[in-house]
Amino acid sequence: MQQFIDKYDFAGKKAIVRVDFNVPLNEKFEITDDTRIRAAIPTLKKVLEKGGSLIIMSHLGRPKGVDAKFSLKHIVAHVSEKLGVPVQFADDCMKADAQVAALKPGEALLLENLRFYAEEEGKPRGLAEDASDEEKKAAKAAVKESQKEFVKHLASYADCYINDAFGTAHRAHASTALIAKYFPNDKMFGYLMEGEIKAIDNVLKNAGHPLTAIIGGSKVSSKLAVLQNLVTKVDNLIIGGGMGYTFIKARGGKIGKSLHEDELMPEALSILKTAEEKGVKVYLSTETLCGTEFSNDSPTLLAPTNDIPDEWEGMDAGPASLETWKKVILSSKTVLWNGPVGVFELPKFAGGTLKIAEFLAEATKNGTYTLVGGGDSVAAVTQMGYSDKVSYVSTGGGAMLEAIEGKELPGIAAIRE
Ligand code: AMP
Repeated sequence: MQQFIDKYDFAGKKAIVRVDFNVPLNEKFEITDDTRIRAAIPTLKKVLEKGGSLIIMSHLGRPKGVDAKFSLKHIVAHVSEKLGVPVQFADDCMKADAQVAALKPGEALLLENLRFYAEEEGKPRGLAEDASDEEKKAAKAAVKESQKEFVKHLASYADCYINDAFGTAHRAHASTALIAKYFPNDKMFGYLMEGEIKAIDNVLKNAGHPLTAIIGGSKVSSKLAVLQNLVTKVDNLIIGGGMGYTFIKARGGKIGKSLHEDELMPEALSILKTAEEKGVKVYLSTETLCGTEFSNDSPTLLAPTNDIPDEWEGMDAGPASLETWKKVILSSKTVLWNGPVGVFELPKFAGGTLKIAEFLAEATKNGTYTLVGGGDSVAAVTQMGYSDKVSYVSTGGGAMLEAIEGKELPGIAAIRE
């Protein structure tokens, strides 16, 4: 049975908490952005305040085995500072028994990078490139078998389990999902997870209408499932960025050299058809800021999105598109935004995406619920200084996308079931 962090009695108990401390480090192993650490602090502090002790676990990067470059020892001092207590460190997550046994209420121990063990992800490592299918299958079975012991050992450290790692909630890994079964009556979400789940529910389950989704980014293929799910839920669907040109071309428009995927034109048309059947209004770009090359020095041209000259490439939403989208956003009760409406990494073509951030902030001020997710959209909101002017900024890129595809995330299901 699922428990709740605000009600759970942590006094004298050891809590094993999965957090996402996968923070960027520079060449001197200094943290360059500690957002993820700060995001987990309320949960960690709560356990300590209520008289529990902490066993904190996370991954860092994508090590292929034990690799000092990816050691969590680099962040111990920073976590101690943010948590306000000295954090001890176990330099092997499978050999922490003595340190765990010595933990007293109010104390915290950070385990070394879980991904130093292949068992965390449950994927075989070190397979020869020319390994046969049989060998691959055997290696996979072997790691799945040893994963059971790995999970059991982690679980043996604690009396209760908290998952506060939304960034990895879409993975069925040892520490994000499998461990939960050892705590049938003592498992719960941390505050960050609770916040993320509520934000997604506010859009997918309990949305105020009109509900508008703005989906941008490079390719239809990477967000096809998202579009297919959202078109059954929203009132308005704004499709921007590179992916929009596949829709425009499928409708017979001339898109010059713009990014597009011919093979996905049938899917694009099918999404438009579903929208029509369901009475969902789709707003594609009507005017595009074009360039001739992927560079800040590129000349620019404003063109109708369905009539882009041959040598030009659509790079950002033009003013007419933005004006229409603004009206849709400002007349919505709920807005979900994922993905840039232009080539955000080039300042010359970032304007449209920054404008969307501005429209969301304005809508939020007027009482609209706004949820933002995805690297570039979050960066746009942050760059404009609007992080506190939208309703919720999601911390999980891949996890949020899978949630808005309508999938049940393993990390969430493991706590609820
Ligand atoms: P995604 O990872 O799918 O959210 O896509 C983000 C990427 O989409 C960014 O790197 C943008 O440069 C790219 N993108 C957005 N609009 C365009 C466009 N019109 N042409 C090419 N790439 C684009």
